[in-house]
Amino acid sequence: MGHAGKPVPVPDADSTPFWKGCREHELLIERCAECGVPRFPPSGMCPQCRSHEVEWRKASGRGKVYSWIVVNHPVPKDVYCLDVPYVIALVELEEGVRMPTNIVNCDPSAIFAEMPVEVTFDDVTAELTLPKFRPCAEAGGSTGDRHR
Ligand SMILES: [Zn+2]
Repeated sequence: MGHAGKPVPVPDADSTPFWKGCREHELLIERCAECGVPRFPPSGMCPQCRSHEVEWRKASGRGKVYSWIVVNHPVPKDVYCLDVPYVIALVELEEGVRMPTNIVNCDPSAIFAEMPVEVTFDDVTAELTLPKFRPCAEAGGSTGDRHR
């Protein structure tokens, strides 16, 4: 699916490290430097202890499908019209945060709750990369090919 004309996220002061990580194909999760609670989306203050101290940790890239919808109906002239069917999902990462994303490389009808997924990076523009998720390459000893 091409990306021409589609809206892209606009990084702000809090989320710039996240988007920079995606650009380098690393999924970085912000966490509180005081109490260690991870959070997503990035924000300026810890909801747990109200600290403003943050640190960024590389996530495993693995998670499971928490919730999803399949978009089947093409809206005429919509920039996503030719992409249907596509999947919008909430993926719960191993680190405990939930991330809105797309599930790709998967028949939408094959998705199930808590399906194991792993991150894959889509360089949608020259400046921006979106983290998307695909079914985990399990069974068959595939631990090393996540980064392809
Ligand atoms: Zn905290």
